[in-house]
Amino acid sequence: MVGSQVGQRSKDIFTRARRVFPDGTSRVTVERNPEPLYIERGIGSYLFDVDDNRFLDLNGNFTALIHGHAFVPVVEALTRQVQRGTCFANPTESEIELAELLCHRIPHVERVRFVNTGTEAVLFAIKAARAFTGRSKVAKLEGAYHGAYDWAEVSVAATPDNWGDAAAPSSTAFYRGMPASVLDEVVVLRFNDTENARQLLSFHGHSLAAVILDPMPSRGGLTAPKPEFIAAVQDTARKNGVLVIADEVLNLRQSFRGASALYGLVPDLITMGKIIGGGLPIGAIGGREEVMRVFDASAGRPLLPQGGTFSANPLSITAGLAAMKHLDHAAFAKLDELGHVVRDGVGRAISKRRASLCITGAASLFRIHPMAVAPKDNREAYLSSGPSKLMKQLGDFFVENGVMFPHAAAASLSTAMTRADAELVVDVFGGFLDSHRECWKA
Ligand code: PMP
Repeated sequence: MVGSQVGQRSKDIFTRARRVFPDGTSRVTVERNPEPLYIERGIGSYLFDVDDNRFLDLNGNFTALIHGHAFVPVVEALTRQVQRGTCFANPTESEIELAELLCHRIPHVERVRFVNTGTEAVLFAIKAARAFTGRSKVAKLEGAYHGAYDWAEVSVAATPDNWGDAAAPSSTAFYRGMPASVLDEVVVLRFNDTENARQLLSFHGHSLAAVILDPMPSRGGLTAPKPEFIAAVQDTARKNGVLVIADEVLNLRQSFRGASALYGLVPDLITMGKIIGGGLPIGAIGGREEVMRVFDASAGRPLLPQGGTFSANPLSITAGLAAMKHLDHAAFAKLDELGHVVRDGVGRAISKRRASLCITGAASLFRIHPMAVAPKDNREAYLSSGPSKLMKQLGDFFVENGVMFPHAAAASLSTAMTRADAELVVDVFGGFLDSHRECWKA
């Protein structure tokens, strides 16, 4: 199918949903228009909604589905595991295999602990850094998203009204009632502002447990970190005994060895999630053996007890193992090529028409911005209501033309996609520029 507004079945289901969920949905990130599209099934790179409309899926459940939907090796592994039981209080051998794969592949991952979400991975990485250093404060990047742990949520939603001076960004609350003590314990840095990072990390260094950074924050515009910024963060952190946490929950998918390896970041701890669960919920904390020892309970109560009813559950582990085993060098080469086709094609479509838009991203990820020059950080990537509306129109246009495009988050490609799928994205985007000229003309 091509051309879809929200169909009648989706509308009817949403009416029911509004009676049981606060706004009719169960997560704030669900896109709606005003109703969401209810999905009936996903196969490969395509989604089918309950009205039987088909969409090329550029969301991939927020970048988690690197092999697309119902990837056969994952389905087979899950089918086998479901028949043997879904969760036990005892460990299974498969968890070792997934941990071994991560330790072999991802630099600086010497020990691993599995949890169920990226949020939990970040939460335990921050706690691990606290337990290791005996300090409580954390430094993080303004605008960077790391899940729902309070300390990691500070300044995620900073706006021009409250983000403060560029040299000393304010710690802003994410929700009404967020404890002031949390704001006091978070130092906010600016992505790619080398001097600012050096100064703030030196000044607060003695009280910081960790600095957490995503090497390419999606909300920072999905642009590459400057090498001197990465060097300044890690050098200043090390001089002050501050641990470096790389949040790779999203960006691990950038290469066989993850994202830190690409950008010269040498972390003490790495948080992972999304792709390592093969489409099931997962999170993982990995890192240096010396730091990961805070979790070691072999001699009694560890410095940091970490449990979780479903941590390392065999479904997430076996699905993740099947997905990760198929993410070999050839798979990453294919993803890089697809990413190139989209970024290059969209870039050409923009320059041909001299449109005031741009595209950023790397590997299998991309973001389109309603501005002529690529944003360098979250302040430049911030959208006021006019440009936000343009992005929403772009998202709607993609949906009407059979492509599910996350207009306010990173778009992602999967190994299930073909070159024709990537070219479709470029074509639809060109169609948008032609039919919405009045919206994007500078
Ligand atoms: N960190 C980053 C960088 C993320 O992108 C996300 C999720 N988008 C998280 C943490 C939280 O992961 P989860 O949604 O699995 O809790």
